[in-house]
Amino acid sequence: MRDPARWARCAALVLVLSAAGLVSYVLYPARSAVAGRPRRRPRRGRPGGPRPLPGRPYRGHVTEPLPDWLSAARRITVLTGAGISTDSGIPDFRGPQGVWTRDPEAEKLSTLQYYVADPEIRRRAWLARRDHPAWTARPNAAHTALVDLERQGRLRALITQNIDGLHQAAGSSPALVLEVHGTVREVACLGCGERTTMRSALDRVDAGEPDPACLSCGGILKSATIGFGQALDADVIDAAARAAADCDVFLAVGTSLTVHPVAGLTEFAAGAGARVVIVNAEPTPYDGLADLVVREPIGTALARLLAG
Ligand code: NAD
Repeated sequence: MRDPARWARCAALVLVLSAAGLVSYVLYPARSAVAGRPRRRPRRGRPGGPRPLPGRPYRGHVTEPLPDWLSAARRITVLTGAGISTDSGIPDFRGPQGVWTRDPEAEKLSTLQYYVADPEIRRRAWLARRDHPAWTARPNAAHTALVDLERQGRLRALITQNIDGLHQAAGSSPALVLEVHGTVREVACLGCGERTTMRSALDRVDAGEPDPACLSCGGILKSATIGFGQALDADVIDAAARAAADCDVFLAVGTSLTVHPVAGLTEFAAGAGARVVIVNAEPTPYDGLADLVVREPIGTALARLLAG
């Protein structure tokens, strides 16, 4: 650790936020048609660092000179969301063409209480997994820009809410990728916890089992993703919180920043003294906290913002 004082401040923040319930381990949406706790409003200001500049949206293309603090940043923690994969053909949930924007009922497939209680929801969920665009999607220019950031030696961690595996497919080091919402490439038993490949489960669906059960204990199988109401992996979210607290710049890309506790990492990073950059087509609840807000397509904006 280059700066023990900063690290001590970050560790104290982790403890305080955990005690305050901000670092929660159960997934919940800010607003939900089917479930959810009220969103905590982000506080302005920074307990441990300089006050943020007001968000400065770029207009049109990213043609302005980059801020010096962004070009000079050596430890950038990136948080990605579904918006980084839309150019790969995987729809997001809440964007204008999002899965839930077009069919709000589909949110139930990602909500644990409905999944456990209703075999029909599970049957629909298996069909959605079988037909998921992730199986044929290829990484796009934005995924590649983050591989380049790692090659520049400036990537502290790549926290992703995505379950599609495209960061690893693009070449990002698995050791740096923190899949806080799990992966669709594996399944886990809700009873005994046994994990196996998604392929083996989908083979059973294709062979005529609408809702394949765990072969070891007979329990309910589910993709190894985190549904609403489901606990996050404590080790992974802890590592994400450490990375948010230990960076010069926290860069949120293609996320509506409405799913908690991950969205709260933005405020957490700002509180630990990081600059915050948000790249998203639509406003987020954290734009007022950001030093820079970029509203243009991720595919063109990211490489420019991260040019070494
Ligand atoms: P979200 O759907 O809530 O928000 C995505 C945001 O990205 C939207 O605000 C949208 O306007 C923006 N966006 C989409 N394409 C863009 C582009 N090309 N340029 C600029 N902005 C763009 O997604 P979220 O915040 O990640 O949270 C939803 C949950 O959805 C996460 O938990 C995630 O696991 C899951 N999810 C994942 C995938 C995936 O793995 N690819 C796909 C859909 C949903």
